[in-house]
Amino acid sequence: MYNLKMQSERDLKLTFCSGAGTVTGANFLLEGNGKKFVIDCGLIQGEKFADDMNWEKFPYDVSSIDILFITHGHIDHIGRIPKIIAEGFKGKIISTIPTKEIAEVMLADATHLLSRDEGHELDKIYTAENIKKALDMWETIDYGEKLNVDHGFQFTYRDAGHILGSGMLEILYNNRKIVFTGDLGNSPSPLLPDTEELKNVDYLVMESVYGDRNHEDRDQRKDLLKKVIEDNYKRKGTLMIPVFSLERTQELLYEIDLMVESKAIPKMPIFLDSPLAIKLTHIYKKYEKYFNEKALKIIKGGDDVFDFVGLNFSEETEQSKSIIKVPDPKIIMAGSGMSNGGRIIHHEKNYLGDPNNTLLLIGYQSVGTLGRAILDGAKVVRILGEDIKIKAKIVKISGYSGHKDSDNLLEFVGKTADSLKKVFVVMGEPRSSMFLAQKLHDNLGVDAYTPTYGETITFKC
Ligand SMILES: [Zn+2]
Repeated sequence: MYNLKMQSERDLKLTFCSGAGTVTGANFLLEGNGKKFVIDCGLIQGEKFADDMNWEKFPYDVSSIDILFITHGHIDHIGRIPKIIAEGFKGKIISTIPTKEIAEVMLADATHLLSRDEGHELDKIYTAENIKKALDMWETIDYGEKLNVDHGFQFTYRDAGHILGSGMLEILYNNRKIVFTGDLGNSPSPLLPDTEELKNVDYLVMESVYGDRNHEDRDQRKDLLKKVIEDNYKRKGTLMIPVFSLERTQELLYEIDLMVESKAIPKMPIFLDSPLAIKLTHIYKKYEKYFNEKALKIIKGGDDVFDFVGLNFSEETEQSKSIIKVPDPKIIMAGSGMSNGGRIIHHEKNYLGDPNNTLLLIGYQSVGTLGRAILDGAKVVRILGEDIKIKAKIVKISGYSGHKDSDNLLEFVGKTADSLKKVFVVMGEPRSSMFLAQKLHDNLGVDAYTPTYGETITFKC
């Protein structure tokens, strides 16, 4: 009897509360030996039924959770933190140091969710008070630091190389190693170190956004960016770049900085017209010590990589409005990245009608956004109540993805394939997750499984 009891105590139960069968909304519950941990508390974004699903009660008693671990500061991993607080969460929140600061800025910015409020009383969830409560119970550990929790659990973050502060959560329990990848970076990144190699992992819960696709050649993207900037200079136009505020903006600033410093591109005013991106850029600057060696060497050589001749931060609305008075050629970077809101749409309204101007799309444009309509070749778009004829040049550069592609995901798992008992493939569209699971099985001989939304799995540890 005693042995049986011991055996059952060593079972771990993993529930895919959300973030299985979808890219966004990461939220996983791990239970065992009298402890309950939640990994990520993300918002389900831009998918069918997504909005309503966010506001259903969590499928567990939030007041019984010991620790909520956060892998990184993207809103699809942190966006429901105010909600878990509102439901009565009393435990600790743990992340790396930069992730906490990024989350503070991102959550404060998430008030735009309130505009989608349809009887969900979001104004009672996304309050300054709930965000403050979360930050008060939020502790940080550095990469590689070990956090011991009673009942035999040890937690460590490994660098995921996805955005500043991003960490894979490694859990040691009963001599078994379980890793939640969070999102995995598209290494090598211009700024961040490569994703740390994993070894001796028993159970892996991994993302699969690009599980069924490979990225285009990333070396070409810098050349293309240079060409677009040069071309804009020659045409004496305005180059608009809709940007995602976190990581993409900082990567782009860094690449433009290197081109400006090496005089590879002609001088012209460049505006970062996004209060959120500006705040996040300050956090990147503060935590430069987490950058990769190449970037650190450039910084140590005296180059402030987020500040170069011609760069202007437009924080205030008045500054944003006055950009139009600045003579061309010029470059405007502004959010949102898919042109579904933010300051970029004001610039698009002003500049899309002139063939000398350029709109450069560097990120994924989801169906239904203004960015997607333009990318798909719309001749006329409606912006802020006005029909705008598109005469500007539209250019797209791929290769700026922050996620590993299919081949790189396979290579990543390959490093620890020998020890793996099971891989749970999550955080991807079903087709993408299933394709990756099949590939892991066929190429590496790994037992890979794609759990469904809400599914619970028990495994022996
Ligand atoms: Zn992410």
